Amino acid sequence: MKIKLRESSFFWVLLKMNVLPLILLTLVITIFSSIRFASSMNVETKNGLVNLCHAVVILYDTVYEGGYHIEEEGEDIRLLKGEHVLSDHFTIIDSIREETGVDITIFRQDTRAVTTIRTDSGDRAVGTKANQTVVEEVLRGGQPHFYSSTMVEGVRYFSYYEPLFSPDGVCVGMIFVGKPSAQVEKLVFDSLIPIIVFGMITMAIVCFVTGRFSKKLVVAITKTELFMETISEGELHTEFDADVLERKDELGDMGRYLLKMQKSLQELVEQDILTGLYNRRSGENLLKQVCEDYRNKGIPFCVAIGDIDHFKNVNDTYGHDCGDVALSEISALIRKHMQGHGFVARWGGEEMLLVYENMHLDTAVSYMTELLEAIRVKRILYGELEFGITMTFGVTEGNDRKVEHIVRDADEKLYEGKDSGRNKIVYGTAVS
Ligand code: GH3
Ligand code: MG
Ligand code: MG
Repeated sequence: MKIKLRESSFFWVLLKMNVLPLILLTLVITIFSSIRFASSMNVETKNGLVNLCHAVVILYDTVYEGGYHIEEEGEDIRLLKGEHVLSDHFTIIDSIREETGVDITIFRQDTRAVTTIRTDSGDRAVGTKANQTVVEEVLRGGQPHFYSSTMVEGVRYFSYYEPLFSPDGVCVGMIFVGKPSAQVEKLVFDSLIPIIVFGMITMAIVCFVTGRFSKKLVVAITKTELFMETISEGELHTEFDADVLERKDELGDMGRYLLKMQKSLQELVEQDILTGLYNRRSGENLLKQVCEDYRNKGIPFCVAIGDIDHFKNVNDTYGHDCGDVALSEISALIRKHMQGHGFVARWGGEEMLLVYENMHLDTAVSYMTELLEAIRVKRILYGELEFGITMTFGVTEGNDRKVEHIVRDADEKLYEGKDSGRNKIVYGTAVS
């Protein structure tokens, strides 16, 4: 059976219940790990830049002896290390940049004297100035400083600045080592991608699995719902889905209880309380079905109406309760007799409808003769009382006429039997 999920289906509730927390968890994990990762990359980058800066300082001390100082000749102001003018010497910083990808600048005061940084036009950014914050904090403040974001020639850097002092302790410049932020961010992003992809794949798998399980559950619920709907519309003989009944969970229990309920309802609606036989309504419905089968498939059948002889006398002589007992015992006897031959229904007070299925009249009559004899010898016991009763039957072979006509025919034969002395079977083919 194909089940269509409606908009307000329980399926969506189940899916939300399972998937939403997972999406939330994945988001929290991704955001948390991104933040943690980015901050540790920040620390790593800072440490790397500090170490590199110290290495550059030591390299300069090794290559150029003497301290840093400034010389002024008219307009020309130069930064020297010992005897050496530092401007125009790029070999050391260029080779470090090539090895590490880190830009290096040595400032004379706030002006770039030597640098690996280039302007838009491709020239070295020599002569350009440090920004005001750096000047204040490093040059004037005399303190090294790490910045997670400084703009140099339009490029954002992770940067480390350290002041340079002359031998007499005057701050004459700064050294800058910096890594373009884009490089660090790419590293962070590249490392996070597998975490994000893994999270998304896990989420997709969980969605798929949850969806499948939820759907199975909802299909079982929907089948149960459909069964209940059909029952509520009065279709008491509808079949319940076997898959649901096989379930060991609460839904399976619910299905089994519904089956019990269906059976109770069937009994209440279709059975006669006193005798336990089918009541007239269901007897009529069953007979209609037998007539259909005759019309469609040619399956023969016989209809008999039986009535207890002088039953009023039983009530009058032994009491109504005793009459009830006699009625139910005779009903039980007839029901037992009908097993494998057809069915019996309580047609009226002490009248029964007997339908012999897949049978012609001669066979039905021979069975009924046995039944008549069994009723004759049956003893009804009620307290101290013991008595017997008899019945008269009218029976006819079924044909393609309406149910009422066939029953009327059997009824007429019953009356013939009553008129001609009772305790007998009157039979013949229905008049067409
Ligand atoms: P006949 O042989 O002509 O059928 O005679 P009869 O006395 O059986 O027929 P009649 O129709 O005069 O009486 C039928 C009686 O069956 C009357 C009624 O009180 C009794 N009866 C019908 N239903 C019940 C029942 O459920 N319990 C009891 N105890 N008696 C019932
Ligand atoms: Mg009677
Ligand atoms: Mg009667």
